[in-house]
Amino acid sequence: MNVHDTERLAGQLEDAGYVPAEGTQADVVVFNTCAVRENADNKLYGNLGRLRSDKKANPDMQIAVGGCLAQKDRGEIVRRAPWVDVVFGTHNIGSLPTLLERARHNREAEVEILESLETFPSTLPARRDSAYSGWVSISVGCNNTCTFCIVPSLRGKERDRRPGEILAEVEALVAEGVVEVTLLGQNVNSYGVEFGDKYAFGKLLRACGEIEGLERVRFTSPHPAAFTDDVIDAMAETPNVCPQLHMPLQAGSDRVLKAMRRSYRAKRFLSILDKVRAAIPNAAITTDIIVGFPGETEEDFQETLDVVRQARFSSAFTFQYSKREGTPAAEMDGQVPKDVVQERYERLVALQDEVAWEENTKLVGQRVELLVARGEGRKDTETRRMSGRARDGRLVHFTPAGEAIDGEVRPGDFVETEISYAAPHHLVADGTVLAHRRTRAGDNSEAGQRPRTAGIASGGVSLGFPTIGAPQTEQSAVAAGGCSTC
Ligand code: SF4
Repeated sequence: MNVHDTERLAGQLEDAGYVPAEGTQADVVVFNTCAVRENADNKLYGNLGRLRSDKKANPDMQIAVGGCLAQKDRGEIVRRAPWVDVVFGTHNIGSLPTLLERARHNREAEVEILESLETFPSTLPARRDSAYSGWVSISVGCNNTCTFCIVPSLRGKERDRRPGEILAEVEALVAEGVVEVTLLGQNVNSYGVEFGDKYAFGKLLRACGEIEGLERVRFTSPHPAAFTDDVIDAMAETPNVCPQLHMPLQAGSDRVLKAMRRSYRAKRFLSILDKVRAAIPNAAITTDIIVGFPGETEEDFQETLDVVRQARFSSAFTFQYSKREGTPAAEMDGQVPKDVVQERYERLVALQDEVAWEENTKLVGQRVELLVARGEGRKDTETRRMSGRARDGRLVHFTPAGEAIDGEVRPGDFVETEISYAAPHHLVADGTVLAHRRTRAGDNSEAGQRPRTAGIASGGVSLGFPTIGAPQTEQSAVAAGGCSTC
């Protein structure tokens, strides 16, 4: 979510005449913060401290802080770091250019935090990060109240975009050559709750299936409690919806799930996976798991390990529980000592790696279609391999060689190849490429061009024509930084 908000911030600033900074010297630095991540505040204040001397040397430089941490800390940010010029919250990211202008004019800090959403972020222009893959928000906020999560208090109640607006944005991206979209929401399968259609998410997936040129549809994240069979049917029956499901488990113990205020139980979670696999046998299922939630006993933890053994996740984001100020869990008794959490975490990671490795090994010898990616493999420079994502989301490093290659393989193109080796976190295809399909996304990627989508106004009307262009290099500069998704 934050990554996509950062694209919106960059798009607005470019519309206001700013251009991306070259190197580390910028006239404006924007931090788009995430309060979900551990130590987010230490990191922010550390970064702000490092910028203090730059600001002294260049008093015209402006520093802005937005996102969840800004929504939480508000005026505290300018109290602790008085050299910050602008603080804006999660509900008014559209105000950033105005606030920068006002702070520059008045020569004083502007702090503006709203309590509810002013403009749906998707009505703002965006400078997209990728020529081939795009994020599309379908909702913001969340109506759940998980006791470890700060999102509901910072992002507010769920607000759903209308299907027409979402599809207009997807079509605008596809018109610019994008071949893959990821539908984004805190809780995608409760989409429709605001306008009274509980089947809206499945219908949206099917409608994406009608968009010519859209080759891959993904979504993140569904909530197990709201996962209905019509969504599984839509996934199975819509050819461009990828055989992949990321569904957060968080814990395998029903007692801990209850304390987390997660309204499903382990049995229900596993039964959803059974149904998904019955309908989509090649589905890769990934998850999020928290270790060491307050009150978690060794027995509870064993139950999480049991679910991990049965669920056969192809990968898992594993987190050590740590207190988030302002959440109910931070006040709970039974906080688990750090060394116990660490030890359980290591056992969980070892088990999950073993499961992932076994699941990945089953793919050795199989032919896969990859959407070639930019910069996904750290070792690619040494090995001259390239990387791509299979339809099920797995990361594959491949050797771009063979007679099937048409010219040069570029990020955004599709290749087909055969898996030769499996590791827990990636696959390798060392044989020759069996098929290569050049795409417009590949052309754009080669030319250094990324889509710039205008905002989509209410009613599904684009606020302007999407444009595609190389990053500009003139005028003043902006660097937008941020952390990952909530
Ligand atoms: S963890 Fe997800 S479902 Fe729970 S409150 Fe946070 S955003 Fe909502």
